[in-house]
Amino acid sequence: MTHSLQALDRAYHLHPFTDFKALGEEGSRLIERAEGVYIFDAEGNRILDGMAGLWCVNLGYGREELVTAAAEQMRQLPYYNTFFKTTHPPAVKLAEKLCALAPEHLNHVFFTGSGSEANDTVLRMVRRYWALEGRPEKQWVIGRENGYHGSTVAGMSLGGMAPMHDQGGPGVPGITHVRQPYWFGEGRDQDPEAFGRQCAAALETKIQELGEARVAAFIAEPVQGAGGAIMPPESYWPAVKAVLAKYDILLVVDEVICGFGRLGEWFGSVHFDLAPDLMPIAKGLSSGYLPIGGVLVGDRVADTLIEEGGEFFHGFTYSGHPVCAAVALKNLELMETEGVVERVRDELGPYLARRWATLGDHPLVGEARSLGLMGALELIDPATGERFDKALAAGNLCRDISFRHGLVMRSVGDTMIIAPPLVITCEQIDDLVTLAREALDETA
Ligand code: PLP
Repeated sequence: MTHSLQALDRAYHLHPFTDFKALGEEGSRLIERAEGVYIFDAEGNRILDGMAGLWCVNLGYGREELVTAAAEQMRQLPYYNTFFKTTHPPAVKLAEKLCALAPEHLNHVFFTGSGSEANDTVLRMVRRYWALEGRPEKQWVIGRENGYHGSTVAGMSLGGMAPMHDQGGPGVPGITHVRQPYWFGEGRDQDPEAFGRQCAAALETKIQELGEARVAAFIAEPVQGAGGAIMPPESYWPAVKAVLAKYDILLVVDEVICGFGRLGEWFGSVHFDLAPDLMPIAKGLSSGYLPIGGVLVGDRVADTLIEEGGEFFHGFTYSGHPVCAAVALKNLELMETEGVVERVRDELGPYLARRWATLGDHPLVGEARSLGLMGALELIDPATGERFDKALAAGNLCRDISFRHGLVMRSVGDTMIIAPPLVITCEQIDDLVTLAREALDETA
C-alpha cells in the first residue's frame, strides 16, 4: 500500500518546492494522520511536528470543534460568494472578530484564499491608494532580500528570494529589495544594534535613489520566517519606522507566519509596536484546517478606497469562503477561550527560549535563537567556526536525520528551524530539544 502510493505520487504528482529528480527511489514521505502535535507516517512512526505543518497548525491536529464547525457550515451554506452586494454570516462574523483582535486602527478586512493572494491584493491596493490620493507616481514597493511573501507572480516579486526570481520569467515591475537584518548571516563582524541601524539606513538610501516621491510602500515580515527565522536586532524596527514616517511611505507588515500568536502576541506587529497600514494574514487564521487569508486594512487606506475609489476590480471566487470563514472564526474563538496567545507569551515562549539556548553549546551550532514559538539553529563547521561547504548540504542532512529520529525540523540552507503548534506542552518542548540534539549529534 505504502509503496504503491509513493510510486503513484512520483508518477503523477508535481510537488511545490521539490527537486523531482532528487526524490530518488524512496519518493516522498507519506503522512497518513495526525493528533495533537504529532504526525504519523504510513509505517506508523510518530513524529513530533516541530513546524506546525507549514507554520500554520497553531491549535494542533485533531480539533473536533473545527471539524464540527466545517461540517455544520457545509450543511448550512457550503458556498456563496461575497461579490456584487452579497455576503453571508461567517464572513461578516469573521471580519468583525479580526478587526476586534487587530491593532486599533485596522478596521477592515479583505478576504483571500491564501497568503500569496493576500500579498497580490496588497500590491494592487497600495498602488490604487496612491493613485486615488492624486499621487500616481508613488508606485515603487520596496521589499527585502530573502523575504518571503508567496509564490504567485506578485508574491514572488515582493519577496526577495533570488532562486525564485531566477525562474519563470520576469516579475512585476516597480518592485525592488533592500538588505535584510540578518545579523548572524551578514553582520556578525559588527555590533548587532549598529548592524540593525545600518539595515534601516540602507532602506533610506534606496528610497533616495528611487526618489522619495515615487515610493509607495515597504513590505516586510516582523520576523522573517521562510528566510530562516531571522529575528531583527532591537534597533531595526524603530529605525525603519522613522524612515518610513519621514518619507510618508506605507508600511505593510506580512503577518502570514507571525500573526495569531506565533511570537506571543496576536500579531507580530504588536510585539514590535509597528502600527502597519496593511497586514496580510493567512496560515494560523484557520490553524491550516482550511485555506483562507486576507488583508487587514488600516483606516488611512480604507477611508480613501471607500470614499474615493468606487468599485475595486479585484477579488477571488473564494474570498471569504463560508466554510473556511466558519472554521477560522471557531479557531480564533478557541484560541481566545483557551488563552493560547497568553500562554505562548508568558510560559511556552520563555520556556522554549531557555531550553533551545542549551543547544548553543553543541559544536555544530553557531547560534541558537528563538522568539515566542519560533526558533533557529545556525549550523557551522566546528573545524573552522564558519559555514559548511555548501555542497555538503549539512542542513538537509540534519533535517532528514531529525525526521528519522521523530522530529520535523526545516532546513533553510544551514539554518535549522522550528515553529511547533502553539498548544505544545513544556514536556513536549523538552522532547523537541532532546530530539534536535540527537539529530545534531548524528549530523556531526
Ligand atoms: N507571506 C509569508 C510571510 C509566508 O510565510 C507565506 C508562506 O509561507 C506567504 C506569504 C504565502 O502564503 P501562501 O503559501 O498561503 O500563499
